[in-house]
Parts: sequence; structure tokens; C-alpha cells
Amino acid sequence: MRLKKCPRCELNYIQEDEEYCKVCRREMKGESTREELELCTVCNERPAMPGKDICYFCMKEMEQQEENRDENEEPVTMDIGMDPVSSMDEIAADTESDDIPEGEYREIENDLSLDEMGDEEERENESLEDEEE
Ligand SMILES: [Zn+2]
Ligand SMILES: [Zn+2]
Repeated sequence: MRLKKCPRCELNYIQEDEEYCKVCRREMKGESTREELELCTVCNERPAMPGKDICYFCMKEMEQQEENRDENEEPVTMDIGMDPVSSMDEIAADTESDDIPEGEYREIENDLSLDEMGDEEERENESLEDEEE
């Protein structure tokens, strides 16, 4: 039985009827299966990181996008959330107090509704009395 050097690594000796040594065959098999099983689901080009669906580059990209989003959102919410609301409150309070004072407006409303109620009650009593007699 003659031995020859493995053509791939040129370190290990193999039998003449073998193509590669055991180490190389295991490496090649492992590489091919790993590429098939763990391709990045985002770019489908680079191998995914162990325990992840995406590769290192896509994960870094997503992290950077999230960081940028946070940086952009904070000042925007400050502008929309704080300043317009406070100024609108001031405007609303000013217009209300300028038109009719709150207490006076309620008094007017009460007077009107009381008069209407009283009229209706009187009319109902009159009609009832008429029917009974
Ligand atoms: Zn080899
Ligand atoms: Zn990727």
C-alpha cells in the first residue's frame, strides 16, 4: 500500500486511492454545511454569526440604524412635545379669559336652563289639573 501527501494541506499522508486526508475532508465538509445552514437572512451573502440569523456586518448596520434613529428622535419629540403644547395652553387660556369669565358664563347658562325648566313644569301642572277636573 503506497502513501502520498494530501494535495490540499500537503502535510498529512494519505493512501493512494484517497483524494484528501481526514483533516481536510472534515474541514471541507464542515465548511460547506456551515455555509448552507448559516447564511445571513438579511444579505444572503455572508455567513451568519453563531446563534444568530444575520451576519456581523448586517448586525452592525442595524445597530447603527437604531442608534441614529434614537439620536434623531429625541430632539424632534422635544420640539413637538414641549413648545407647541405650552404655547397652545397659553393661547387657549388667554382667549377664554378675554371672552367671558368662566364663573359669569356658568351663571348665564344656569339662569337660562332654570327658566326653561320652570316654564315646562308649570305647563305640565296646568294640563294635569285640567284633565283631573
Ligand atoms: Zn489534508
Ligand atoms: Zn448579512
